Amino acid sequence: MSTSEEWTFPDDVDREAVQDALVEWYEADHREFPWRRTEDPYEILVSEVMSQQTQLGRVVEAWESFLDRWPTTAALADADRADVVGFWTSHSLGYNNRAKYLHEAARQVEEEYDGAFPETPDELQELMGVGPYTANAVASFAFDNGDAVVDTNVKRVLYRAFDVPDDDPTFERVAGELMPAGESRVWNNAIMELGGVACEKTPSCDAAGCPWREWCHAYETGDFTAPDVPTQPSFEGSRRQMRGRVVSVLKEYDELGLDTLGPRVRVDYSPDGEHGREWLRGLVSDLADDGLVDLDETGEEPVARLQR
Ligand code: SF4
Repeated sequence: MSTSEEWTFPDDVDREAVQDALVEWYEADHREFPWRRTEDPYEILVSEVMSQQTQLGRVVEAWESFLDRWPTTAALADADRADVVGFWTSHSLGYNNRAKYLHEAARQVEEEYDGAFPETPDELQELMGVGPYTANAVASFAFDNGDAVVDTNVKRVLYRAFDVPDDDPTFERVAGELMPAGESRVWNNAIMELGGVACEKTPSCDAAGCPWREWCHAYETGDFTAPDVPTQPSFEGSRRQMRGRVVSVLKEYDELGLDTLGPRVRVDYSPDGEHGREWLRGLVSDLADDGLVDLDETGEEPVARLQR
C-alpha cells in the first residue's frame, strides 16, 4: 500500500480514459431507483434522508408514499409534525429526529428561501439536519453542482483500484481530482454504483464487467483487502488473480504469443502441462468475451493483446 500523503495517480493511468470508462459503464446499465430519474431537490433530499438508515430497496415504497402525501416543500411545511413523525415510524425509517428535521428543512425552504432550494453544498448545509454528505448529494443530483462523494464505498473503490492510501484527506483529494469537472451528477452516481454492484466487500470484478479492471491495482495483484475489508474476501481467487496477471503482463507489451505470455503469468507454465496452452487459452478467451483482450488465432501461434 502507498503511504505518501502526496500520493498521485500513476503515470501510466490515463485519467480521461478512466473517467470515460466508468461513465460509459454506468450509462449502459445501472440499478433503477426512482430518485435517479428526478432532479427535484426536495425529492432527492427525502431519498437521501430516508436512505441514511434504511436499505435502498425498502426506501422506494416509503419515498413514493411520502411524496404522494407531501409532494412539495410547501405541502410538507404545512403538515402537522405529528403526522410526519407518524409516517416515519409506521414505515420503520429509523430515528424520528430525521422526520422532524426534514419537516423543519421544508419550513426553512419556504420561509427563508421563498420556496427555492439553495443550490450549493455550503448553503444546503444551512438546512436543518443536512450534513456535509447529504448537502453534497443534493447539490450533485439536483443541480449537478456538487463535489466528489467520498463514502465507504468510494474509499474502497479508490483504495483497490489505484492503491490510494487509507487516509481521509487523501481520499478526498483523489476523489476530487478524479471527478470530471462539473459532472458531479453522473460521476457520483457512477462511482457509487461501482462500489455498490461491482467493487463490493467481496468484489465481482468480472461478473459485473468492472470498467476499471485494466488499471486496477487489486485486480492485478489479487489483494482485494480494503479499509473496510481487513482480510482477503473469499472467492474464486486464483483464477481471478491469473486473469489480472494476464491483463497486467499485456499492458507491458503490444502483443504476446500464448507461449511467451504463459511463463510471465505462471512460473510453472509449460505449453503441454496442466497450466499450459489450453489453460491459458481458456483464461484469455474469457477475457476476450469480457471485452478486455483480443485473441488472434489466425497465425500458427495464438496471439493475445489488450483491447484498446
Ligand atoms: S477490478 Fe474489481 S477490485 Fe478493481 S475496481 Fe473493479 S471491482 Fe473493484
